[in-house]
Amino acid sequence: MKRNITNKNNTEKRKRYLESMLNKLCVILGPRPAGSENYNESVNIIKNELEKCVRLVEIDHFVFDYWELKEKPRLICETKELEVWPYYGSKDTSEKGIDGKIKKIKAKEPVFGLYDKNLRKIQAYITISPFGKAVPRFAWEPEFKMVPAVTVGRQDQKALERAISQEARVNLKFKAETIKNKESYSVIGYLPGESKDEILFLAHADTHSNTPGANDNTASLITMFMIACELSKTKHKYSITFAATGGEEVGHLGAAHYAETRKNRGDIHRIKISINFDSLTYGPNMIIYSKDKELSSLITKIYKELKLKGTIQVISENDTLDGEVFIKAGARGIYVNSRGYDKTKLKLWHRPEDLPGSVDFELAENGFLVFTELIKQIEDRNLI
Ligand SMILES: [Zn+2]
Repeated sequence: MKRNITNKNNTEKRKRYLESMLNKLCVILGPRPAGSENYNESVNIIKNELEKCVRLVEIDHFVFDYWELKEKPRLICETKELEVWPYYGSKDTSEKGIDGKIKKIKAKEPVFGLYDKNLRKIQAYITISPFGKAVPRFAWEPEFKMVPAVTVGRQDQKALERAISQEARVNLKFKAETIKNKESYSVIGYLPGESKDEILFLAHADTHSNTPGANDNTASLITMFMIACELSKTKHKYSITFAATGGEEVGHLGAAHYAETRKNRGDIHRIKISINFDSLTYGPNMIIYSKDKELSSLITKIYKELKLKGTIQVISENDTLDGEVFIKAGARGIYVNSRGYDKTKLKLWHRPEDLPGSVDFELAENGFLVFTELIKQIEDRNLI
């Protein structure tokens, strides 16, 4: 008999599960940056959830440089104080801060420089948040690690432009500390199949230090647990792995370390497909980043057959986040994100307002339905 996963009872159970897990992780714990006590506590919760349905669960442990803000950062533009967040890993300022004048360095995705008073020597970088107010981000750019670098909110771009035209005095000050060899973890669950060929699900479990991260990425993480539990009810042709990764927000560290673990173990080649969930609940329009035509058109077909509310878009690009290392090791990659409620949802990104109340259950449910069906169809069609 075919199990009916969409019967009302099961859907209702998943809804309550999502709510209770969001509450545990985002409200009771709150922000869970890799290296923090909160994150470590969430590892126990995650391990427990995976163990409920997946037989083999292990912790992948890694060591990294933990960067922490030691006081509220401050940017004063003339007399006005602007909200500001330093880049994770950025060099901090001196005790009295940096005084100078502003010049625009780049117009598109604007970058401003805080220069000395003669406008010759750059002393700090200021960028504009992509979606809303000031947010923390990881300093991928090497120059953002050499000198202090911060982001201000979109609403404050005008204030910076005005400071340029008026040659106003600007002062930036923040204190940060790097702690070497801090520990963090990813939680990995295995569902062995008939074959050792493996499908890997990824969802990052960490957040930045200022946000409970309900949409980024806790709801997607919980969706992955739901998929794990659903798939554990039946036998599978392929082995399926579920990785709740740590340190995504600070350089994709957990995924990179787990790939190393698998290389050292000599079995990374078994991972044939990597499916990375990041922020599935920004709206009903699913976005698939993949260069794999077969898998992305299969997902598109499933999405349409399920008659889900939104539209699906495939972008022919590889996952450059947690999945990248597995694609490099030979896996076919799928990275899943979403859009649709952009006006209300995107401004929550990396912000304290990214709370459980802003998560729509049906968007998590869409991810659950599409990807449980995808696994079924991959197996029916022997796609590995
Ligand atoms: Zn994310």
